[in-house]
Amino acid sequence: MMDPVCGKEVEQGKYMVSYKKRRYYFCGITCETMFKRKPDEFAASPPGPNENAGAKLH
Ligand SMILES: [Zn+2]
Repeated sequence: MMDPVCGKEVEQGKYMVSYKKRRYYFCGITCETMFKRKPDEFAASPPGPNENAGAKLH
């Protein structure tokens, strides 16, 4: 699991937010709060393979 806010590796734990039928885990309450403020901003770049080939950063 990766914290979508700070990018840290986190274990599934107490800091979890369900958003658009997905679950996001956080290293702490700070990241969880930031995610809740702007969920779209962080949920837009989920961890894992990016299938959007048009958005490569070259
Ligand atoms: Zn974090």
